[in-house]
Amino acid sequence: MTLDVGPEDELPDWAAAKEFYQKYDPKDIIGRGVSSVVRRCVHRATGDEFAVKIMEVSAERLSLEQLEEVRDATRREMHILRQVAGHPHIITLIDSYESSSFMFLVFDLMRKGELFDYLTEKVALSEKETRSIMRSLLEAVNFLHVNNIVHRDLKPENILLDDNMQIRLSDFGFSCHLEPGEKLRELCGTPGYLAPEILKCSMDETHPGYGKEVDLWACGVILFTLLAGSPPFWHRRQILMLRMIMEGQYQFSSPEWDDRSNTVKDLFL
Ligand code: ADP
Ligand code: MG
Repeated sequence: MTLDVGPEDELPDWAAAKEFYQKYDPKDIIGRGVSSVVRRCVHRATGDEFAVKIMEVSAERLSLEQLEEVRDATRREMHILRQVAGHPHIITLIDSYESSSFMFLVFDLMRKGELFDYLTEKVALSEKETRSIMRSLLEAVNFLHVNNIVHRDLKPENILLDDNMQIRLSDFGFSCHLEPGEKLRELCGTPGYLAPEILKCSMDETHPGYGKEVDLWACGVILFTLLAGSPPFWHRRQILMLRMIMEGQYQFSSPEWDDRSNTVKDLFL
């Protein structure tokens, strides 16, 4: 998918990012996030294609405090990416560059894009295909957890597909280290995928906090969404959606469920 290029998408200035540009030739935009633009890029020496996530950290757009926050968060993301590189179902960070105003993360190019777009195109997936995707996803998540890393933003937008339709987990922007027994309290992630304990501890100071189990909750939400073609917790008023999550309130109401096996439905009960 190629996105339109607006005035705010001008390529970062040559001088600041010289090293990156000497090695890579940036091409079309293939994705974007809150503070990043992702482009296809070509390695000049070999002609091989990669994806580059470009994050702006210049004082023009952000306050000094926000700037340091983005820099720190990106350094954490890079550190974790280096630690997990090499797993067959996790994105590989190939290269990284930091200039005064931009950070560049070069990854394997996942040519078939997001699992989210694939699902939208197919409406819902078969149990067989879902099984294969979930197996790979759970292997990747288990690998993270064994290494004391929690992802915190598992969703079909952050699961990418390669040429052979194999998945790789990406976007470690909210990931962090978590020692056994240690708890987190920070409210972060994507609303529809948040585990009840994340919401509860943000509202109750006496709540003990949450652990890596929150990734497994998100995997459950993904499993449901792949099979049903729509998410388990959704309401156009977000506050009501959050209440549904906290009450664990969902239904097998979409017509897709009529043809599903009892074995798979049983997974949710
Ligand atoms: P953010 O943290 O801003 O959400 P992501 O790392 O999730 O950034 O990247 C944003 C989007 O860019 C992804 O959802 C995906 O569509 C695209 N993208 C990211 N990395 C790659 C990649 N390696 N190959 C292909 N597309 C990618
Ligand atoms: Mg993302």
